[in-house]
Amino acid sequence: MDIAELASVEGRVLRPGDGGFDESRALWNTRFDRSPDLAVRCLNANDVTAAVDYAREQGMRLSVKGGGHSYAANSVSDGGLLIDLSMMKKIVVDPGERTVTVEGGVTGAEMDAATQEHGLATPTATVSSVGVIGAALGGGAGYLSRKHGLMIDNVISARLVTADGRQVRAAADENADLFWALRGGGGNFGVVTSLELRLHDVGPQVLSGQIIYPFDKAGEYLRFFRDFMADAPEEFQCYPFCFRVPPIDMFPEETHGQPVLDFVLYHEDPDAIEFVMPLRDLGEPILEVAGVSRYVNAQTGFDANLPKGQRYVSKAHDLAALSDGAIDTMVEYVPRMVGPLSAAYFDPLGGAVGRVDPSATPYAGRDTTFGFHIIAGWMDAADDDSVLAWASEFHTAMGAHATGGVYVNLIADDETSRIPAAYGANYARLVELKQRWDPGNLFSSNYNILPG
Ligand SMILES: Cc1cc2nc3c(=O)[nH]c(=O)nc-3n(C[C@H](O)[C@H](O)[C@H](O)COP(=O)(O)OP(=O)(O)OC[C@H]3O[C@@H](n4cnc5c(N)ncnc54)[C@H](O)[C@@H]3O)c2cc1C
Repeated sequence: MDIAELASVEGRVLRPGDGGFDESRALWNTRFDRSPDLAVRCLNANDVTAAVDYAREQGMRLSVKGGGHSYAANSVSDGGLLIDLSMMKKIVVDPGERTVTVEGGVTGAEMDAATQEHGLATPTATVSSVGVIGAALGGGAGYLSRKHGLMIDNVISARLVTADGRQVRAAADENADLFWALRGGGGNFGVVTSLELRLHDVGPQVLSGQIIYPFDKAGEYLRFFRDFMADAPEEFQCYPFCFRVPPIDMFPEETHGQPVLDFVLYHEDPDAIEFVMPLRDLGEPILEVAGVSRYVNAQTGFDANLPKGQRYVSKAHDLAALSDGAIDTMVEYVPRMVGPLSAAYFDPLGGAVGRVDPSATPYAGRDTTFGFHIIAGWMDAADDDSVLAWASEFHTAMGAHATGGVYVNLIADDETSRIPAAYGANYARLVELKQRWDPGNLFSSNYNILPG
């Protein structure tokens, strides 16, 4: 391996043992501890091109890391070359055109901070350290999605380095087939060095908060929630998030270790407190903190629940409806939850997400009204078997109430056979486009679409 060919790289070329190498290969999910042969910490698109060309010519496995939050740890491989985009942090907001352009290393928190200076925002993931482009390439759902769609529905254009090392632009009027594929097809089609997104008026103040109930009446409360969401405006979003109370002072001591149902809520209107009161008046909350908040703070509400550097597995389903069966399954499995950081929730979709034609982008779940997601989290490898068994059983049981589809970004490492189901009728076109843009499957360390 003659890395002199990477001499043009303005960022850093790192080998195991070099300062910064471990930071480059670090993942949010430490259940995976992988070490590539080389990490190229890129500063610009030319660095990315040099790394792509080098990996292709050397026949090296290539992986691409933005924010490092891949549940399945796709962004770092054992052996091969890692393209680390985390230093590519440029953000350009155009308030007149209402657009933002972000580079590959930008997180949701960083983009929100820049766009909120102009009272603008675009949908992002609900944990603020998630990479913007990594989330957007698979779909990207967050608090704003019922009103403004998925992240992919807000993409205007992308600049990327393709498998043959070309730097190209993809938009509705240029490389339109590639533009279609990128908006859901993940990292399969190239390394996206920058992405241009549409902005909307949001904040700076919104309503946000949590209303946390003991779990004993969860079945009744979730049925109420289902009816409440059916009539709720698209400006409102609420995740019923089930977890075990951690042993910390903000919770009464007698609740420590107990399962709870937490309505994590968001309303674009900071004065909408009366609207959420029915969720508050269901019973006696253990804790309630709902009120006016800065949008950027509302966007960090889940951060503490899902800290970086622990062991995780993600299991998900698309649901056509929040049926009694789905609610009863949640009620049955949450009290048996294993893993101190484990959680499960329903994710209301519909609204603007559902108004997009299912063939307009690869994302197939346009008729999904609720996502279902288990994030099992724990610290000790000795607990792997028990936590993974609980998550699998719960996931299998919920499958009886699901559509068979799944949001691709939430697929677990051992579930790659579900990738076609994530794309449904759009999968065949993705396979064709993969053949056209990456026939040698250079970009394989992802939710991989095999060239057809
Ligand atoms: C704590 C947590 C919370 C989450 N919350 C949400 C949520 O609210 N909504 C939601 O929709 N999703 C959510 N996700 C899922 C998230 O969207 C995906 O895991 C996403 O891929 C993470 O992007 P990343 O850049 O941080 O991850 P990375 O691990 O860096 O990248 C993941 C994959 O994306 C691809 N990729 C990343 N950047 C590029 C690029 N520039 N060019 C080409 N390919 C690239 C690669 O294939 C890579 O393997 C969450 C994930 C976590 C861990």
